[in-house]
Amino acid sequence: MREFGYAAPADVPAVLSRKAATPAARYYGGGTTLFDLMKLGVEGPVSVIDVTRCDALQTLEAGRSEWRLGAAMTMADVAADAALQREFPALAESLWKAASPQIRNMATLGGNLLQRTRCAYFRGTPAYACNKREPGSGCSALEGVNRGHAVLGGSEHCVATYPGDLAVALVAFDAVLELRSPRGPRTLAVIDLHREPGSTPHLETTLADDELIVAIRVPRAPATRASVYHKVRDRESYAFALASAAVGLQMDGGRVVDVRIGLGGVATRPWRARAAERQLLGQPLTRESARQAAESAFAEARPLYHNRFKVALGIDVLTDALMQSKARL
Ligand SMILES: Cc1cc2nc3c(=O)[nH]c(=O)nc-3n(C[C@H](O)[C@H](O)[C@H](O)COP(=O)(O)OP(=O)(O)OC[C@H]3O[C@@H](n4cnc5c(N)ncnc54)[C@H](O)[C@@H]3O)c2cc1C
Ligand code: SF4
Repeated sequence: MREFGYAAPADVPAVLSRKAATPAARYYGGGTTLFDLMKLGVEGPVSVIDVTRCDALQTLEAGRSEWRLGAAMTMADVAADAALQREFPALAESLWKAASPQIRNMATLGGNLLQRTRCAYFRGTPAYACNKREPGSGCSALEGVNRGHAVLGGSEHCVATYPGDLAVALVAFDAVLELRSPRGPRTLAVIDLHREPGSTPHLETTLADDELIVAIRVPRAPATRASVYHKVRDRESYAFALASAAVGLQMDGGRVVDVRIGLGGVATRPWRARAAERQLLGQPLTRESARQAAESAFAEARPLYHNRFKVALGIDVLTDALMQSKARL
């Protein structure tokens, strides 16, 4: 690992002026992904800027119309919030079902959203062709070991899965990011944060290099109360999703009046299943209608040699999540 500079400014203006003075520096929160990738040689910033000392990034506010979560809060602190667990279980569950207790104690919300794929070719030796790591070099996963890869949103250039859990819950519930840069503030819907790989898999997000995530805002809605984050993985802790679903539900007179569906572990980006949502609106929710909607969520799936099981698994996970959400009404 190369030597690198370190700074820990005390507030947001100081973070931004440090970044403006050293444009090649990288923001970091817990460092649980960035330092990992630096050790693997995938990333090599000349210096890092610790954003966790800024009080403005450390507050959790439960407002009348929205939740506001500071981007440098740890996954553990947010997951442990009793009001969030009660009123927005899908969000709390997406955090405590992720990683390990030690990682959740260090890792921040902003860093979690910006974690990079776990594709073994991307993280392995540069001898493997990888368009994300070396644009134009090819994709070893297409004909290689692709059990953990995406069945939705892939391209002939990259089929890497977006690995995070939190973003899946956030896209389902229309969350928005508060961003700051030397050019001023702006907001960005989380659904617009991650890109599909297309022909440029090395471009993963729509953030400018100097944009700092300050906070995440999630609108309150009746559907957040009866919500669930259901995650299936190879073992029950410390593992990434093979398939997951964030679901929120509101019913009136026995019919669905609002439903939100996010999918994880199966796509190249946090995935909103809008066709399945449309199919359920105005209908009674039975196991059969849930399964039909789940099947429509995977109608466009393009499985690879080793990951065909993800289509059937994803349908099962979403069907179960819809029924679990109904049981919470
Ligand atoms: C063994 C293992 C298992 C895991 N399992 C899961 C899992 O099941 N589910 C899951 O979701 N995650 C999982 N993770 C990933 C883990 O959750 C992430 O490493 C962690 O959330 C990253 O947060 P961080 O604050 O440490 O990020 P950092 O490493 O500090 O930063 C990550 C990236 O975000 C950028 N960044 C950080 N903060 C900001 C900000 N405020 N504004 C702009 N850019 C910023 C950094 O520049 C960097 O590019 C696992 C990790 C490991 C090692
Ligand atoms: S799937 Fe994407 S990250 Fe993995 S080897 Fe192919 S190009 Fe690289």
